[in-house]
Amino acid sequence: MKSLQEQDTEIFELLEKETDRQNYNLELIASENFASKAVISAMGSVLTNKYAEGYPGKRYYGGCEVVDIVEDHARDRAKKLFGADWVNVQPHSGATANAAVYLACMKPGETLLGFDLSHGGHLTHGSPVNFSGINYNAEFYGVEKDTDRLDMNKIRERAKEVKPTMISIGASAYPRDYDYEAFRNIADEVGALLWMDMAHTAGLIATKNLNDPLPHAHVVTTTTHKTLRGPRGGMILVGKDGENTIGVTAAKSGRTKNWGEVFDSAVFPGTQGGPLMHVIAAKAVSFGEALQEDFKTYQTQTQKNAKAMADKFIELGYDLVSNGTDNHLILIDLRNKGLNGKIAEEALGEAAITVNKNMVPFDTESPFVTSGIRIGSPAMTTRGLKEAEFEQIAVLIDKVLQKPGDTENHKKVEQEVRDLCDRFPLYDFVTA
Ligand code: PLP
Repeated sequence: MKSLQEQDTEIFELLEKETDRQNYNLELIASENFASKAVISAMGSVLTNKYAEGYPGKRYYGGCEVVDIVEDHARDRAKKLFGADWVNVQPHSGATANAAVYLACMKPGETLLGFDLSHGGHLTHGSPVNFSGINYNAEFYGVEKDTDRLDMNKIRERAKEVKPTMISIGASAYPRDYDYEAFRNIADEVGALLWMDMAHTAGLIATKNLNDPLPHAHVVTTTTHKTLRGPRGGMILVGKDGENTIGVTAAKSGRTKNWGEVFDSAVFPGTQGGPLMHVIAAKAVSFGEALQEDFKTYQTQTQKNAKAMADKFIELGYDLVSNGTDNHLILIDLRNKGLNGKIAEEALGEAAITVNKNMVPFDTESPFVTSGIRIGSPAMTTRGLKEAEFEQIAVLIDKVLQKPGDTENHKKVEQEVRDLCDRFPLYDFVTA
């Protein structure tokens, strides 16, 4: 058989270009990371050929004896990593994991109370353009104007007002941690299910660098490719008290199966067909990596780096949403600098600094322009950068944002970015 390079030069050259881009850009998108060579190898394996509808020991296809063991490893390692009672590692993405939770827990037309999308929440938590907002009645809670933080008393009032079937926690752009116990008390008070989408913070939660939702939420979903540093994909978990709570889940969904089966059947056949066994193998590899001691060191450094960068930005006169961060990301409100997110993202892109424009709470700009940028530390921390380099990154960003229209200046900053990237090499391969 031919190699990719021999078979398809056009695609191979594009992969070379993308590898070069990843090697020589400051990757600061908070939802991205750099998977290891081992994880990438598993994804690029012959397991992509295998159909395995169903679950280990209960497949609809022959020849599953090897992939059964692979999926068992992925499940066992995930359970160990998060102290979960039950997991499903088949969701193709975070959004499909969430779709399965809705299918299992809510009937169309029932009410979800979710984190306001313009305050950091995710599309799948009730956006009117997403299945969650189309099929369900989405109501929202948000952060307070003076603190940019959640006020649990206000959320309790909101929950009493809208009487949700399910309350969701979790966001794509919230720099603070959550009080899961308080959320659970509210859910119990109004008879709602509690769902935490820890897509962004799963890695930090696995190492207990952030509060743990599993003992409190009825169900937890995640992506596997953000702070968790695995392959692109999703997962559903239930904590130790799942057995007590699933009775509620089953009743609400009109099903009588036990709790594992409720979510398993919501994934397959509920929302997906055959699992991506090559991705599940890569998930197993990444969970194995996350169970090593150095993963704790990595998450701690990710958090320290975000904090160091936040402090530097504040020193440079930037306005940070909630005035700092507890986790891996910061959100900068650029209005006091006379800038918007679109201009900033484009100018930084010219200097090989990759961030994304982002709405800030109570934004006055449209989602296509936005008043803010979101900056995350997970990817560059994987490359080995520490606090000093993250402070340097804040200075480089400031250099660009001081003169967003000055392309000559951007070129000079790009050279500094290249020098920094050279000190922390990344990929020495195009295909693993
Ligand atoms: N949930 C949250 C909180 C997210 O931030 C994201 C993605 O950014 C998702 C779900 C969706 O994940 P995916 O892009 O894998 O569908």
